[in-house]
Parts: sequence; structure tokens; C-alpha cells
Amino acid sequence: MRALMKAKAEPGLTLTDVEVPEPESNEVRIRVKQVGICGTDLHIYNWDKWASSTIPVPMVVGHEFVGYIDALGKDVKGLKSGQRVSGEGHIICGTCRNCRAGREHFCRETMGVGVNRPGAFAEYLVIPQHNVYPIPDDVSDDFAALLDPYGNAVHTALGFDLVGEDVLITGAGPIGLMAAAICRHAGARHIVVSDVNINRLVLAERMGASAGFLAGRDNSDNVMKRLGMTEGFDIGLEMSGAGAALDDMINAMNNGGQIGLLGLFKDKISVDFNKAIFKGLRFKGIYGREMFDTWHKGLSMLQSGLDISPVITHKLPFENFEEGFTALNSGQALKVLLQFD
Ligand code: NAD
Ligand code: ZN
Repeated sequence: MRALMKAKAEPGLTLTDVEVPEPESNEVRIRVKQVGICGTDLHIYNWDKWASSTIPVPMVVGHEFVGYIDALGKDVKGLKSGQRVSGEGHIICGTCRNCRAGREHFCRETMGVGVNRPGAFAEYLVIPQHNVYPIPDDVSDDFAALLDPYGNAVHTALGFDLVGEDVLITGAGPIGLMAAAICRHAGARHIVVSDVNINRLVLAERMGASAGFLAGRDNSDNVMKRLGMTEGFDIGLEMSGAGAALDDMINAMNNGGQIGLLGLFKDKISVDFNKAIFKGLRFKGIYGREMFDTWHKGLSMLQSGLDISPVITHKLPFENFEEGFTALNSGQALKVLLQFD
């Protein structure tokens, strides 16, 4: 089968032929229809410090996908050949304290599809039955291929009661933009988005944000004045991975506000925690998706009209993967989908 492989410990990926994987008794084989390129895949492509110390070589990478069930291990129940599915990329141990308590997203032994074991940038993918998630007929292939990053946005945003609240989102990458649409759908009042890229702010307003501002040039105080806000934000969603953005967010929060931290900081950061203490802020780190309530609620919102299509900037044949990675590295692309014919 055709697959995109990290073939050597150096930048780039190789389109190559590998053996079709066989499912174990509890696993499912999926014929992949289309895949999304994630920021993680870009790190792997560019072979940065994190990737070179994490990714085994050689290995097929990728974890955002939609496809059809092609083969079932002998112990798999409740799924059928031909069913359209996506899947959770975090494979859990099932035996640690958190797994046993039903908090699988806190598993201490999580393995990543396309990170620690062969991934989805291939014609066939094998994952445990537990990770397979069937897709309702009224959800498009494009949205189904994005359920992983969309799920990050759902997990972060729905971690808070959004109804009637004022939300600040720092970072209008694909996840911040989808979070803006979710906050609008879920009933927030003002949704303000910041980024350093003006084009992304335009898109944020298209996806439901009340206003955007250019970080470094404008600030949240000015936007709050324009919106008639007098006290500060109730909810903050940090989705940029920039320390400066978190420091600004702490400044812009109302007393007693809550902050969800999704963005991954490249280095240790410097923020004014005394301010957070005097304001009585609460912080929540977010990793991955909640298994599987995030999947359920995320799909339900797509079925009830939430539109994430503006983040899809490129749809390319699988073979043209280089074009997709180049567009992402240049900052022009948001979500790139690669399609098998
Ligand atoms: P992205 O890199 O495409 O988006 C980040 C955005 O932040 C960009 O648009 C960038 O221009 C903007 N930005 C940079 N500096 C800024 C600043 N000072 N103020 C405001 N905006 C600024 O990433 P993404 O795919 O949308 O993901 C968002 C973040 O979440 C990334 O940091 C990513 O690594 C992280 N992530 C975390 C998890 C998790 O499970 N915790 C999962 C996926 C992604
Ligand atoms: Zn576990």
C-alpha cells in the first residue's frame, strides 16, 4: 500500500510502498479515504527537537483521518465491514487508575497513532476497536477527517459553561478558529480572538467571533471598550502557545475567571502569576479529547449546524503531500486534507 513514512532521521517524509497491516484480535483495519495534516505532523516533517527525540524511524505517520472499515479482528463486536469511521489517536492502557475510573484522557501510558505506532497517512490503518468512532451519515468526509483537532477545540471550550459568558481566545490557528465557532454555537456573548496574522482574524469573525485584534499592535482593553465590556473576560482559551498571549490573557480576565490551556509553549514562559492569584483565576490544562464525550458532543454540534469549513484551505491528492506541508510551513494554510482517489 502507499504510505507516507518518516524513512530516515532527517527532515521530510517519503511516499513509499509498505505491507498492508493485519489487525490483531481486538483491532480494526480501516481503508483510509482522506487525512488531515496536523501541527504535530509538521513537527515530524520538519524533524525538530521534539520529533527527533520522540518518533521511531522508520514509521508511517499521521493521525487525522476518515475511512471505511475493511477488516475486523476476531474478537471485535458491534462494528461492521464498510462502516464509515474516524478514530481517537490516543490509545490508552485501560488498567491505570484514571482509565479504570473512566477518565481515559488522563491515562498515564497513552500511545499516539502516528507518533508511537504506525499512523494514518497510508491506504490502510489498524487501530484498536476501542478507538474506532462511527460517523453519522449527515457529517461530511471533510469534517470527519478533522474530528481530532476539532475535538481539541471542543474539549477545551466545553470544559466551561459558555452560555452568556465573554470569551477571549488567543491564537486563531485552526483550533482557535474552530473554538470560536463552538463558543458561538454554545451561546457565549462576546467572543474576542487575537492573533499576529490579520488574515486569520478576518476568518475568526466569519466563524462567529465578535471581534479580533492584532496581538502586539492592539490590545484587549481597546476591544473591550468597543464592545461595551467593563469588567473583563469570564473564560480564556489559550490556543497560541505564545507566553506573551497568556500574560495578556491574565491581564484581560475578570476576577474569578477560568482559563483553558491548550497551546503548547516551546520553552518555559514568564507570566505574572501574582496577578492570577489576586484575581482568583482557575487554570485547566487540556490534552487531547475526552474519550468519548468530546466525540459525541462535537459530532452533535456539527449535526446541528456548526460549520468548520472555513478552516479547510487545501484539498490535495495524497501524492501532492509536499505541496501541503510547504503551504503549512509558509503559514498560508490552515487545514490541509490529503485525499486517496
Ligand atoms: P497553530 O500554530 O496553527 O496556531 C497558533 C496561532 O497562534 C497562529 O495563528 C499564530 O499566528 C498565533 N499566535 C502566535 N503568537 C501569538 C500571540 N502572541 N498572540 C496571539 N496569537 C498568536 O496551531 P493549532 O493547530 O491551531 O493549535 C493551537 C495550539 O494548540 C498549538 O500550540 C498546538 O501545539 C497546540 N495543541 C495542543 C494540543 C493538546 O492536546 N494540548 C493538541 C493539538 C494542538
Ligand atoms: Zn491508562
